Amino acid sequence: MPEEKEIRAKNFIERIIEEDIRLNRNEGKVVTRFPPEPNGYLHIGHAKSIVLNFGLAQQYNGRCHLRFDDTNPTKEDVEYVEAIKEDIRWLGYDWGEHLYYASQYFDQFYNWAVELIKKGKAYVCHLSPEELKNSRGTLTEPGKESPYRNRSVEENLLYFEKMRRGEFKEGEAVLRAKIDMASSNLNMRDPVLFRIINVPHHRTGSDWCIYPTYDFAHPLSDAIEGITHSICTLEFEDHRPLYDWVIENVTVPSRPKQIEFARLNLSHTVMSKRILSQLVQMGIVDGWDDPRLPTISGLRRRGYSPEAIKAFCEKIGVAKSNSVVDMGFLEHCLREDLNKRAQRAMVVTQPLRLVILNYPEEKEELLEAQNNPEDPSMGTRFVPFSRELFIEEKDFMEVPPKKFYRLSPGREVRLRYAYYVRCVGVIKDPKTNRIREVHCTYDPNTKGGWSEDGRKVKATLHWVSARHSVDVELRIYDRLFVKADPKEIAEDLPSAINPNSLTIIPNAKAEPMLMGAVPGERYQFERVGYFCVDTKYSTHDLKVFNLSVRLKDDWEKIAKGLPSSQS
Ligand code: ATP
Ligand code: MG
Repeated sequence: MPEEKEIRAKNFIERIIEEDIRLNRNEGKVVTRFPPEPNGYLHIGHAKSIVLNFGLAQQYNGRCHLRFDDTNPTKEDVEYVEAIKEDIRWLGYDWGEHLYYASQYFDQFYNWAVELIKKGKAYVCHLSPEELKNSRGTLTEPGKESPYRNRSVEENLLYFEKMRRGEFKEGEAVLRAKIDMASSNLNMRDPVLFRIINVPHHRTGSDWCIYPTYDFAHPLSDAIEGITHSICTLEFEDHRPLYDWVIENVTVPSRPKQIEFARLNLSHTVMSKRILSQLVQMGIVDGWDDPRLPTISGLRRRGYSPEAIKAFCEKIGVAKSNSVVDMGFLEHCLREDLNKRAQRAMVVTQPLRLVILNYPEEKEELLEAQNNPEDPSMGTRFVPFSRELFIEEKDFMEVPPKKFYRLSPGREVRLRYAYYVRCVGVIKDPKTNRIREVHCTYDPNTKGGWSEDGRKVKATLHWVSARHSVDVELRIYDRLFVKADPKEIAEDLPSAINPNSLTIIPNAKAEPMLMGAVPGERYQFERVGYFCVDTKYSTHDLKVFNLSVRLKDDWEKIAKGLPSSQS
């Protein structure tokens, strides 16, 4: 039998790397890095970058570094450092001994800045931030040279040292590269390399009051670590000439190559850490790990497995142009994964009492149920059955419309793993006229849910035995945003928020096995959806379950070419 392995075309980054290996560049080595700024939690977009960078390193027997890009102390924090490490480990990647912080290289950056000054390639400039901005020019007009541009090397060395010693206030001096104020690329118009920030750093404390910019620190960090392929998102394409300029003009130990790919955008959500942190700060969500957020910690609490996230990242592939991936596709990948691994259970979300008149009052049975029909190796369990059960309110209609095949007066249905039951009457609340109980009879010759005479029924319902059931809390999530377009969400956050993104069902009725459910465990509640035991709110006495994803949705229909119900 042929090996069952998905064969896909190589993406453009793999092709670049393979060409480099063929030409024995970097002695055939592949070293990548994932460089998060510790100013927020990681999200699914970062996961794409992690899967790509760590994945390429695995694929080409190389290594991938984890480097915290901690060059701006104003927004960074150790809380984020720890959360980022935890998320990457959870995704299943290991940086081994290759954990770095850009802040470790501050001395080296400083020395390299001095080198540039000595070569006449950098200068200290005292234009105010406003003046700096105004002198940069536009896409159609060249920039204006700074009056400080032609200072002597000695003067620059002196003023740079003064910057370092804290003799200037923020905004009074910056170090700029001396490149070309008329360049068609704005990033090459004497970009800032160092600026003054009077904020203590979470690792270097108050050792420094000047900090390197991303454009200076990033290529140099890559070069120090011997990164061969520095993979980043498309916004940095215009920064590549500057990346290369830094590498060419500083005596660096290696020559990394920057490669850009399209960032992941997902519909119905946002990836901006600024907006995510706003949602957390405003209390619109319950922390960075809220199950409605696209953060890795949120997805984990929601019930995503690392495998589902990796499968998603691999399936969307790597491209050179930006696009928006449908959230439904991420959910589809989750469903595919959970279908294979999730233990089945029966839970009734909106209980309606069903009484089996011909089933003895005191009798109870344990009925065998499959733990996962997709995977017989997961075995079976025994579910208690008795005269009084709960079924879903929605599974009964007194006056059924056409095409309603579930329970209604006179009709017979199957109770999953149990018996056939036929509805023989209802009891209503005399005041509200609401149905309080459905009365049925059962056929003892249909044990297990199969009729000996081959009689067919059109519906199978899930159920729980009333006297054996346990109450569980369900947290049902809808999309956090009512708008699909991430740009529109970012433009007007308040009006994009879905006020009904969380519905709590405090007392769904569950089969008793679920009392033993452990935080983080994933289940399929038959006919309802996939659920994960919440790690934050579950207690010994009350299990709280987050809805991971419903069983089927439009994406599945779209994939099969059926009409979709959503606009
Ligand atoms: P910031 O706005 O704070 O710069 P960022 O999303 O760029 O946010 P970083 O911590 O700098 O955050 O990102 C770390 C790495 O993850 C970078 O290499 C970046 O290119 C990559 N990355 C971030 N967002 C995405 C995304 N949506 N898709 C793919 N890669 C991403
Ligand atoms: Mg960034």
